[in-house]
Amino acid sequence: MAATFQLEIVTPTKLLVKEDAEEVQLPGLDGYLGILPGHAPLITELGVGSISYKTGSGTHTLAVAWGFAEALPDKLTVLAEAAERPEDIDTARAEKAKRRAEERLQSSNPEVDYSRAEDALQRAESRLTIAKVTIAKDDR
Ligand code: ATP
Repeated sequence: MAATFQLEIVTPTKLLVKEDAEEVQLPGLDGYLGILPGHAPLITELGVGSISYKTGSGTHTLAVAWGFAEALPDKLTVLAEAAERPEDIDTARAEKAKRRAEERLQSSNPEVDYSRAEDALQRAESRLTIAKVTIAKDDR
């Protein structure tokens, strides 16, 4: 069996990754899934978290929020609503989004859509975690 499969990660505005990968971990709605070459066909919905993938040049990580992934034995396509490389994450923007979501969740304003605020908080916290982990690695 081939040692790699084709990995494509796209958002509505860009093609972020098109590479041969040895292994990918991605956040399904019910937890992380591992994809290896020869994986049985599968379609899954994505949650919020990190996609990490291993290529000949090392292991790479992206922040991802919502979307779908389709696995075939020789190809994995990720259609993400939003995805960023750690170095492209604007941490000040994510901190602001986190504070805004927390304020909404704590308010008693009947206009607040709590589930939307919870989703925004999850995205902001995930971006901050992924940006930090990468900065910590770069410091080593
Ligand atoms: P915000 O409230 O700051 O817009 P959000 O979680 O609502 O955050 P999304 O709807 O998930 O934002 O994403 C909208 C677009 O902005 C996507 O293209 C996403 O990649 C980008 N984006 C959102 N937050 C950041 C960030 N902190 N750094 C870099 N890009 C971001």
